Amino acid sequence: MWEISVFYCSNCGYYAFHQPSDVQVCQKCSNPMTLLNMHYQDFMNLNYSQRDLVIIQHMLQASPTLSAAIAAPRRLYYKRELVGAITQQVLELEQEIHELNETIEWMHSIIWEDFYTKHQLEEEIRQLKDTLKAKDRIIRSIHEKPNRSRQKHRRRK
Ligand SMILES: [Zn+2]
Repeated sequence: MWEISVFYCSNCGYYAFHQPSDVQVCQKCSNPMTLLNMHYQDFMNLNYSQRDLVIIQHMLQASPTLSAAIAAPRRLYYKRELVGAITQQVLELEQEIHELNETIEWMHSIIWEDFYTKHQLEEEIRQLKDTLKAKDRIIRSIHEKPNRSRQKHRRRK
């Protein structure tokens, strides 16, 4: 006798009926499928929205971040509990996004500070080079100037 089991994809929620010995891969996203811990006939006795809820409940339980938020899994059969858990997850994700945005802003400001510092340093180097050139010109002009005492001094050497 052919035994049939329900498999579901914890990634996209797709479900299919196969022999339990088969290794199943999701037809939609190629994710390995999970055997649903429920008899095929029990699952078939449910209507489509009930089946959806069963699959959703299993997907949520498999999610490490949500499993902690679900204290009483059976109560997830009530849609409002499910909505509550998902809303909480959305809030947490929004908080995470907010924190990531703050980090990005902070990194952005650091990069700009570095950029500004680099330009300041370049400006300082340019000014120092100008000063050195000016000093060099002054020194050269002193040497080029006819200076008798210095020439005498050189001749003696
Ligand atoms: Zn899938």
